[in-house]
Amino acid sequence: MNRRTFVKLVGAYAPAFALPQQLLANSNDTIKPIVISTWEPNKKANAKAWEILSAHGSALDAVHQGVMVPEADPDDHSVGLGGHPDRDGHVTCDACIMDHLANIGSVMCLEHIVHAVSVARLVMEKTPHVQLVGEGALQFALLNGFKKENLLTPKSEADWKKWLKTSKYDPMTTVRDIEKRIKESHDTIGMIALDENNNLSGACTTSGMAYKLPGRVGDSPIIGAGLYVDNEVGGASATGVGEEVVRICGSHTIVEAMRHGKSPKEACKLAIERLIKIKGAEKAKEIQLGFIAINKSGEIGCYSMLPEFTMAVHSAKGEQIINSDYFFESSIKK
Ligand code: ASP
Repeated sequence: MNRRTFVKLVGAYAPAFALPQQLLANSNDTIKPIVISTWEPNKKANAKAWEILSAHGSALDAVHQGVMVPEADPDDHSVGLGGHPDRDGHVTCDACIMDHLANIGSVMCLEHIVHAVSVARLVMEKTPHVQLVGEGALQFALLNGFKKENLLTPKSEADWKKWLKTSKYDPMTTVRDIEKRIKESHDTIGMIALDENNNLSGACTTSGMAYKLPGRVGDSPIIGAGLYVDNEVGGASATGVGEEVVRICGSHTIVEAMRHGKSPKEACKLAIERLIKIKGAEKAKEIQLGFIAINKSGEIGCYSMLPEFTMAVHSAKGEQIINSDYFFESSIKK
């Protein structure tokens, strides 16, 4: 086990952070506004969210516009345009959004729409419902002016065709097989922001596990699993094997742990330990899960099952990448 936290300092602000390395991961550093996201590549999304937060915008607008960045990026193969398709070659997206008043909206298994998070926000703001799925979600999007697009880019199509050659099509393929491929599909974004009015909001968006069974939905659009925000306490988001995040209501578990006094990092670790208790160490150490959390004071933290999980942070101090502490040293078996 490696309990050290490494803080990779980025950009011109680096000297200001030549401080105890635990500071940003688990600290009393109560700077706000602030935005955190799963995975280093999502620093681009944080930069967009920061534009909004630093211009006195709301956490809700920040997370919404922030996660739209990877959704529109054809080179991000875990989210929106260019996402890895399911086993049949369909790119199906899942997204959710939650604001400081506990308003929620989500879409699941949505095809042909680049900005699934924007549809989720419309579900939240314009309907009496909180979740729309599949064809119904698509119809709702089209009725509200969204454009039908092909999300399968030449690159994601070529990757899928390569996968088809070497992987036997078997609808009973287990999640275990998919776990082995998580390394190539892990830029799913969960983002939480705390704005200058002390309000928290979060958003989460993904194209899900690469080559999943058609119709499969993971944790990302499920409020309480992939994302949860309680404006009295804090917020959390998840990435990794969605089936396991759902099993422990990961993000809600973390927010409740913070409510009962845990720091954001301790709360993320508690969720990881809960899954280990349920699955047993042997099984758990083959599952990558990563959690990020922020509390109402602006303290942040993260924790993962296995190495290589990162959290991207943006505040008035600039951009930072935190290499998460983790429970098991061993990585996913090939
Ligand atoms: N949690 C996502 C899902 O299960 C995938 C990921 O985070 O990479 O759909």
